[in-house]
Amino acid sequence: MSQPEQTILVTGGAGYIGSHAVRALQRAGYRVIVLDNLSAGHRELIEPLQVELIVGDVSDRPFLDDLFATHSIAAVMHFAAYIAVGESVTDPAKYYHNNVVGTLTLLEAMVAASVKTFVFSSTCALYGVPKFVPITEEHPQDPISPYATTKWMVERILADFDAAYGLKSVRFRYFNAAGADPEGLLGEDHSPETHLIPLVLLAALGKLPAIKIFGTDYPTEDGTCIRDYIHVADLAQAHVLGLKYLLDGGDSDVFNLGNGSGFSVRQVIEAAQQVTGKEIKTVESDRRPGDPSILVGSSEKARNILGWQPQYANLNKILAHAWQWHTHRHGQS
Ligand code: UDP
Repeated sequence: MSQPEQTILVTGGAGYIGSHAVRALQRAGYRVIVLDNLSAGHRELIEPLQVELIVGDVSDRPFLDDLFATHSIAAVMHFAAYIAVGESVTDPAKYYHNNVVGTLTLLEAMVAASVKTFVFSSTCALYGVPKFVPITEEHPQDPISPYATTKWMVERILADFDAAYGLKSVRFRYFNAAGADPEGLLGEDHSPETHLIPLVLLAALGKLPAIKIFGTDYPTEDGTCIRDYIHVADLAQAHVLGLKYLLDGGDSDVFNLGNGSGFSVRQVIEAAQQVTGKEIKTVESDRRPGDPSILVGSSEKARNILGWQPQYANLNKILAHAWQWHTHRHGQS
């Protein structure tokens, strides 16, 4: 049964989406422990949350055994993963090792410690090039990058671990996570940054000379790629609902998380100019390998089964919250 005082272990909780999930869990009354190796996460990012941080690696089995033996963990939310699609193509070993072997090690340690509730951060990238939009959970899976394949493999492992060991999981397939904590406490800080919205805002701040538009000849109205941007706080809230669903005895399941409406790269830049009041220079560039022209998801299932109701399904709000964070971060507030 879901009880707010239960302790939830959040791997990758010092990263972008993980830290927002920590905040949502705390708000729902859960006790949270963050496990992060700080390779991409930031200790100072989660300082405002006053959460316990254990620095360690999900690939370290003796460390995990000790952690589960010394803490009473009700469930694990797993965000710790490498996420750069391009890098996964040039260095797949890094991705298979961390995202698959690391997760398998974590799952084995959980089973050994009889912790059998798992919320997993997956991706819409495992659908590959869409055969129809909006993409539902039944859409065929055909990952086209090592990154997406690692998530697909873990989803397969989870199905087998449920059948064999009774480990129950909710897998969330995200569309384009964006935005920042509405109250300005947390935000997105990847290094190097590859995502459109933070790069556009860095250009607005004058930290980048211009934003490159990757491809202007796609079969879309303005020739640029269309994506479904979802506010990170809405994403985090879905994780709390998924956790409650499992702790209340729900069966393993998978849910898309998106808003169901798409915006082109040019539309995002235009909206960012409005929100920031700054001119954003653009440079038309070649297509980026592996980018499908349009990715828009249906999240009806999450709404119907988990009762998920996004609060910030609005591109301008997403940009405004991200801008609040970026201006604060770069001392321009
Ligand atoms: N994009 C772009 N310029 C950039 C970064 C991204 O034109 O500097 C485009 C990218 O090709 C894609 C969209 O913006 O069509 C969203 O890319 P992002 O990397 O943010 O997320 P993805 O869709 O790859 O998960």
